Amino acid sequence: MLASERATRRKILKAIGTLAAGISFDGIEGAFAQQLDSMPACHAGDAPTLRQTEGPFFKPRSPERIELIEPGMSGQPIEITGFVLTRSCKPVPGALIDVWQSDAAGIYDNSGFRLRGHQFTDAEGRYRLRTIVPGVYEGRTRHIHVKVQPPGRRILTTQLYFPGEANNQRDGLFRKELMVRTVKASGWLAGRFDFVLDLR
Ligand code: FE
Repeated sequence: MLASERATRRKILKAIGTLAAGISFDGIEGAFAQQLDSMPACHAGDAPTLRQTEGPFFKPRSPERIELIEPGMSGQPIEITGFVLTRSCKPVPGALIDVWQSDAAGIYDNSGFRLRGHQFTDAEGRYRLRTIVPGVYEGRTRHIHVKVQPPGRRILTTQLYFPGEANNQRDGLFRKELMVRTVKASGWLAGRFDFVLDLR
């Protein structure tokens, strides 16, 4: 990693830290300030996040972690942040977010838990996931599988997609409403996606 990349990365990590602490946005470039906006971008009455098929590779009891990148793992690093919200834009604290995805070669780890993990939204209903952009496999565009469950309520199973993928239009499951918004930084991507649950 170049020194300039390290500096940018430090700055972004600091910005995320600042965001998490709920203080100011000093020092963040415009695009990132927008990307990492502390306010959910939702409107009362927004449609809930679409449900999608679970697919064949879900495994229960994934480790609790926000960091899925392991030493030596190849692929494009991405940090996806966002909120879990009700239809009236209320943040949902303590919501379970369980993620599973393929590696950069399009392969799922079905014997272990590589690129699988769960976490719970914080007191402000936020989550933060550090992973790689998944690879493509037969018949599918790039996607991350997610289950979101507010405390004691029904599970939302869905999938997230990525912008600018030629395969999006060829994948019958792809929905633009499930696309992560991304901003490029040096060497990695910042992504944003808010889940809207069918709760008041
Ligand atoms: Fe899949």
